[in-house]
Amino acid sequence: MSEQHPKSYNILPGPKMGLVTPDYLEAVAAAARKHNIPLLKLTSAQRIAIGGHTPEAAAAIWQDFGQTEGPKKPVGIHYIQSCPGVQWCKFGRQDSPVLGKKLEALMTIPLPAKAKVGVSGCPMSCCESFVRDLGIFGKKNGWTLVFGGNGGGLPRIGDIIAQDLSDDGVIALAEKCLQHYAANARKLERTARFMERTDLEQFKGAVLGG
Ligand code: SF4
Repeated sequence: MSEQHPKSYNILPGPKMGLVTPDYLEAVAAAARKHNIPLLKLTSAQRIAIGGHTPEAAAAIWQDFGQTEGPKKPVGIHYIQSCPGVQWCKFGRQDSPVLGKKLEALMTIPLPAKAKVGVSGCPMSCCESFVRDLGIFGKKNGWTLVFGGNGGGLPRIGDIIAQDLSDDGVIALAEKCLQHYAANARKLERTARFMERTDLEQFKGAVLGG
């Protein structure tokens, strides 16, 4: 059995946006015990990772969840984060988990580079919406969409593209932003670098016009 490098890790199937049921957590705990995984990591992407295991153990755990790791997906939205939003947080203005779930429809759009999405239920932006490729946060009158943020080695605050959007409006605009980026960015160019060399008003004209 080949050893996986101790610094490598695999993401478990589910959960999305950090939402878990007691049944899911019990299944994870049972699988971890069965495969002698001593430690699991809750990642910044609100998922659960297992590290320091063998490739065989990872495959076996996936099988315990009734899934196989399968072929790598095309480059696109890497993950969607969501905060608790108006249902659970006293500061919430909009329902971020519900919007996050709806945004999953955009995960099939092929992109030049990976993109991260953060949906926050209010301007406090607990999902760091200003430093996500696609950031969204709620206010009393609707959603604000921010594009081109990055929290990595060369951080960038994203640009506000539009405000006071409905659920349908923000999803439609998010799709237009991603499609425009996909059509005009260089291969492997993240949204932050793309927006740095793009005229903001032209970008807005392209995604908001018509
Ligand atoms: S972003 Fe706002 S609604 Fe979401 S968890 Fe933070 S304070 Fe609450």
